[in-house]
Amino acid sequence: MSLYKTAAIVASTLFPASVALAQSEATQRLLARNAMFEPAIVEVAANVHTAIGYQVSANSMIVGDDGVIIVDPGQQVAGAQQVRAAFEEITDKPVVAIIYTHGHGDHTNGAPAFYEDGAGIQVWARSNYGSEGARVAAAGLDGGARPVNTQGFDLLPEQKIGIGVAIPPERVPTGSMMVDGATVRAVGGARRVEPTHTFAEDRISLEIAGVEIELVAAPGETDDQLYVWLPQQRVVFAGDNFYQSWPNVYPLRGTARRSIRDWIASIDSMRAENPLHLVGGHTTPMLGNAVEVLTNYRDAMRWVHDRTIEGARQYMTPDELVEYAALPAHLADLDYLAEYYGSIWGTVRDIYAQDLGWFDGDPLNLHRESPLRQSQRMADLAGGVESLWTTANEAMQNGDPLGAAQLAQHVMRLRPEDPEPRMLMADALAVVGERTFNAPARNYTIAYSNRLRREAEALE
Ligand SMILES: [Zn+2]
Repeated sequence: MSLYKTAAIVASTLFPASVALAQSEATQRLLARNAMFEPAIVEVAANVHTAIGYQVSANSMIVGDDGVIIVDPGQQVAGAQQVRAAFEEITDKPVVAIIYTHGHGDHTNGAPAFYEDGAGIQVWARSNYGSEGARVAAAGLDGGARPVNTQGFDLLPEQKIGIGVAIPPERVPTGSMMVDGATVRAVGGARRVEPTHTFAEDRISLEIAGVEIELVAAPGETDDQLYVWLPQQRVVFAGDNFYQSWPNVYPLRGTARRSIRDWIASIDSMRAENPLHLVGGHTTPMLGNAVEVLTNYRDAMRWVHDRTIEGARQYMTPDELVEYAALPAHLADLDYLAEYYGSIWGTVRDIYAQDLGWFDGDPLNLHRESPLRQSQRMADLAGGVESLWTTANEAMQNGDPLGAAQLAQHVMRLRPEDPEPRMLMADALAVVGERTFNAPARNYTIAYSNRLRREAEALE
């Protein structure tokens, strides 16, 4: 019997049985977050109500004199119909307008639940509505290269514990979920409701059903983002430029280009309105402390940006910059800046990649050897591949799954037909993933582990 079998037993006591047995702190905190998404209608102001926990995104209703305005109808029609029913318990006034904060499907696909043909309902968005989807399609990456694995669509039921900023997956009726446009298709084949009114200006002022409304261009999470500002009620609807998590400046699926400098400016612009209440695109509204929250959010993003650029000028590599750009304690301790969904390490690397490209300044990266050659060097150093394999198993048994995964990967390359290193790497990544707090990184790691396990089983 090989060592890996023992390692597999070690792993299986942690995962996937982890839900019942030894849950990591990361898992516990992500599970605790799900309590935020019990369905509720939050009264943000006397005439502003936000539905949380019905759908993946937050959906709001502004009540006017003779009609209501819907901000972000949500992800899919069935869920949006439930939101509509809940809103109708507050008022039976008809829907007169719908506002899309941006073009992602988790905010727009539910529109048919509120929209009626021929009823004169205004549907507002920016004139570059849908720009992200168009850019991705132009790159030939429509549907994404790896959206499933980062959102956890394809995990085993017991591995799906949540995404940190939205309802847990088992409560999404379609069995899939998307938070920041990971997929843009209309769920269940529902038709899309296109904007009837768009604007190209930085800001427009409207009066709808007697409510004073300003729509303000706010590029950030997407280029087509806007925020909705109600000056009378001092409520700002941020779209996905704000939710209670570190912002998803770099989505691991890899098909979005997000400018952190634009994003910071947009947060600052919302802050300058002097709002009382802040309604984010996901998670519960921030009531009464909007300026404080937006100030901290802006300061934190600016800190990470500035440190990254400053360090890059000193020849620091992205790996070094991740440490150099760590938040100061007074920001790092804020729960709404924790890495539930976006990550600081991903942000730092993305700033570097967007501004300086793939070359990190390390001359050895101008002379890279093939992965196979690097693994052979590792094996030679360890005294042969068998010795490397023993060390990999020992790492797993000694509670160092990340070390085990790194060593097993070398063995895998050198023995591609051998299922054992592949299985050890699968076991090790399962544990690493279970201990990862950032939900997309966790999902990707566990999905990759599942894939390796399937490949290993096929080789056995
Ligand atoms: Zn969203």
